[in-house]
Amino acid sequence: MASESRRQLHVFFFPFMAHGHLIPTMDMAKLFAARGVKATLVTTPRNVPSFSKTRGINIDIQIIKFPAVEAGLPEGCENIDSIASSIEMVHKFFKATKMLQQPLEQLLQDFQPSCLVADMFFPWATDIAAKFGIPRLVFHGTCSFSVSVDLSLRQYEPHKKVSSDSEPFVIPNFPGEIKLTRMQLPDFIKLEVETDLSKLLKEVVGSELRSYGVVVNSFYELEPAYAEHYKKVMGRKAWHVGPVSLCNKDTEDKAWRGKEPSINEHECLRWLGTKKPNSVVYICFGSIANFSDSQLMEIAMGLDASEQQFIWVVKKGKNEREEEDWLPKGFEKRMEGKGLILRGWAPQVLILDHEAVGGFVTHCGWNSTLEGVTAGVPMVTWPLSAEQFYNEKLVTQVLKIGVAVGVRQWLRVVGDSIKRDAIEKAVKQIMVGKEAEEMRGRAKVLGEMAKRAVEEEGSSYFDLNTLIEELRSHCS
Ligand code: UDP
Repeated sequence: MASESRRQLHVFFFPFMAHGHLIPTMDMAKLFAARGVKATLVTTPRNVPSFSKTRGINIDIQIIKFPAVEAGLPEGCENIDSIASSIEMVHKFFKATKMLQQPLEQLLQDFQPSCLVADMFFPWATDIAAKFGIPRLVFHGTCSFSVSVDLSLRQYEPHKKVSSDSEPFVIPNFPGEIKLTRMQLPDFIKLEVETDLSKLLKEVVGSELRSYGVVVNSFYELEPAYAEHYKKVMGRKAWHVGPVSLCNKDTEDKAWRGKEPSINEHECLRWLGTKKPNSVVYICFGSIANFSDSQLMEIAMGLDASEQQFIWVVKKGKNEREEEDWLPKGFEKRMEGKGLILRGWAPQVLILDHEAVGGFVTHCGWNSTLEGVTAGVPMVTWPLSAEQFYNEKLVTQVLKIGVAVGVRQWLRVVGDSIKRDAIEKAVKQIMVGKEAEEMRGRAKVLGEMAKRAVEEEGSSYFDLNTLIEELRSHCS
């Protein structure tokens, strides 16, 4: 009787407006909803299509206006993906997100949810939730390893104790002798000057400490030492509930995540179906990263030289002209049947999960990294920005399921430094030979662990249940 009289747990999810945050938050909302929780996603008009495939699951969507023009952005600019290459626009974007406090507060007033899961980029959400006496959970969108690296760098500042940008230093008080260089650190960590963004990120740390806890899209067995470190040494209350992408079970759900894919899922599966297991390398750099034409040319040449079959995702539309400047002459025709170039948005999880795919060249965005782990494929790591250099270390040094292509410099979103020979070498290293087999073996074991983690009795299943139960008792 007591449980019947309890009010249904109602969780508000408020993701940052970037696909790397919208996609896993939607998956998380689905997971909560599947456990009988009322889930509401809060977003802005132009980001609603990202959530259009919550088929069969009852998730409410509440829309608030994004004050683009008020913050000096072009009308309709509501997602950071399209403007991330301009730091000035990024600052304006964050300014606009600060103005979302009042409409969010209004929604909390109107709906009286029992809990707010808000993105790390909204540090003010902790205080708003407190006004309504409800817990605020933080969602970073990355793993315990990388949030802990960030915290250690802030606390101990080892990068200030080396004499050059390229001299490696060890992350202090951190398991595993992880080395980085100053060149690989984000501007907001290494630069002395304070910007609006670095200020915001400092506030993130404070708000996290004052919040109820952190939901992590990772699973305990992937990074046990770091999950413990985050909780015990960094003192965070955290629940590992991932990989959240595994809530997508059928072809359509796997294919349609965040945006409509630029290839029909059946066509994609047909192409992959003609290939032998582990014979195709998949190359994709997430939703934001951009490369110059000359870098794309190097990738094309490197892939060609590697002699591997591939699916390569390029964020460019089809050119009117027959030849495109970023491709060697006649490249696409020559690669017919062997290599597929997808222009636009790929059905990434569907592709990675196919048995024909045996390797992944990734920018190490956390979602992609975890999706690669889940699919059990070795990776070529090609980090560009954000916390991607930390994720690279987890993949290459801790998990030993990948090789670095050799990027040395944190560059925000435009990379332009890797030559064809390095690409050829790294692709061959994960696709053929003894080393590739060993990495693939380890990756497959982790992939199995990932799947077990979200099944009944699995660690992530258990953590999510624990969190929901705790929230229920907190709110009853
Ligand atoms: N993604 C996709 N198709 C694409 C590019 C990206 O489905 O063509 C998805 C990918 O599966 C992942 C997310 O978009 O879930 C990208 O997030 P990630 O953290 O890897 O990188 P970000 O885009 O934030 O740099």
